[in-house]
Amino acid sequence: MTAGTSVSGRRAALLLVDGARNDVFESLAEAGELPHIERHLLGPGGVTPATTVFPSTTGVAYLPFLTGCYPGTCDIPGIRWLDAARYGGDWWRNRDHVRNYCGYQGEKLNTDLPDGMRTVFDLVPDSLALCSPITRGLRDGRERVSFGRKFWGSLAHYTAGYGPLDRAVGQALCRLAPQRPRFVFAVFPGVDGVTHFHDPWHPAVLEMYRQIDGIVGAYADAGGFDGDHLTLLVSDHGLERVRRHTDISLALEAIGLPTLRHPILWRKDPEVAVMVSGNASAQVYFKPRVLRERRFHVAEIEAGALAGVPPTVIDYLAALPGVAMVVGTDDSGLTLISRLGRATLSETDCGRIAYRPDTADVLSLGAAGEYSDREWLARTLETPYPDAPVQLLQLFRSSRTGDLVVIADVGYDLRVEWEFPEHRSGHGSLIAAHMRCLVVSNAPLAGPVRTVDLFPLVLDYLGVPVPDGIDGVIPGKVST
Ligand SMILES: [Zn+2]
Repeated sequence: MTAGTSVSGRRAALLLVDGARNDVFESLAEAGELPHIERHLLGPGGVTPATTVFPSTTGVAYLPFLTGCYPGTCDIPGIRWLDAARYGGDWWRNRDHVRNYCGYQGEKLNTDLPDGMRTVFDLVPDSLALCSPITRGLRDGRERVSFGRKFWGSLAHYTAGYGPLDRAVGQALCRLAPQRPRFVFAVFPGVDGVTHFHDPWHPAVLEMYRQIDGIVGAYADAGGFDGDHLTLLVSDHGLERVRRHTDISLALEAIGLPTLRHPILWRKDPEVAVMVSGNASAQVYFKPRVLRERRFHVAEIEAGALAGVPPTVIDYLAALPGVAMVVGTDDSGLTLISRLGRATLSETDCGRIAYRPDTADVLSLGAAGEYSDREWLARTLETPYPDAPVQLLQLFRSSRTGDLVVIADVGYDLRVEWEFPEHRSGHGSLIAAHMRCLVVSNAPLAGPVRTVDLFPLVLDYLGVPVPDGIDGVIPGKVST
């Protein structure tokens, strides 16, 4: 990718195949069913083992590619959240302090980011975005195939809409190829959209991967791979078959807790709010009527400090069918609670992360350990919860994250009862099938990588200074 010309002549493209599973992709590639991707990407480069961020949900999991930062750093902890410091209990007057990006608030993904955070569009003025829900920093007239309400709205409910939508993005990509923009970000929502209705290995899903391969071929014919370029084909998360649903809002109502939840944000005197992300994880906020600048700790909740909230509520949630774990905060870090027992995660004075199974090995890591951020990635890649120590800690950086985060187990989601249509496959959790994602590059990358690492990779390739304070590091320039 670096052969020849100066940095100024280089171009980069990030093609995001929403919801593409690395194992499904590799199976098709090995069968010779992705010949264009083989020729233009796998041949000169390859697949790099990779993880996304938690929560592993569409939109939120796009942020790393465009900012180099985790959702917790971006202060966008999920597809739905509540700002406990500002939501005062008036469901109408305070409606702007509760978020649901799957609706009219979708545009707020751009403005909810911290002031001063710069996107790749800010840093590379000659950028174009296709079908992207995040456009912050993009210059006027540089958006193609507007994402907008079309996606969050009705189209997402009909499988038939995804083939044409991906083709429309592909056609726009081919049209702009001769312009040679310095950076292109193109989103293909089809694999995610169709997989939600099926199994990840269903023939209709595989056909969407083959269609992407055809688009890559057409993009090559249009000159997309000419000259010095870095092209990445990536996904924002995987998906897994959902066999059962656990609605934790209904479970909380069943023990007498009035629960604020979407779609109707009216509940008389709610004791708790549940904000589901994508659909296999959820934020839980106690006393949503009470303005506060801090979270309620696990120890406080269990000491009965919250009037009207049973002190056993955390164990109750952790024991619900389909809940892998519940995570909350304490003075020294995070407490992880499963039906089998408890573990803790904390950051040490020397910047390492310590995992301590107290009464259960909640993260299934086999033993206690204290490692650096990058060491944890490599050590947990093949475990049931890849990169969990780092991903759980990053999420609680956001003040908008709940008092508790509830995480679904394999085969389950935390689907809300009003959702239509029912999803047969899902994502959003910390399990491997959701957290492992696809990273294909036309140049070999030192792995494993996280999706946050691709932002500095692209900037460095283009000769643009990488901003300080981001979470990603350039692959191959990693120190442990
Ligand atoms: Zn997605």
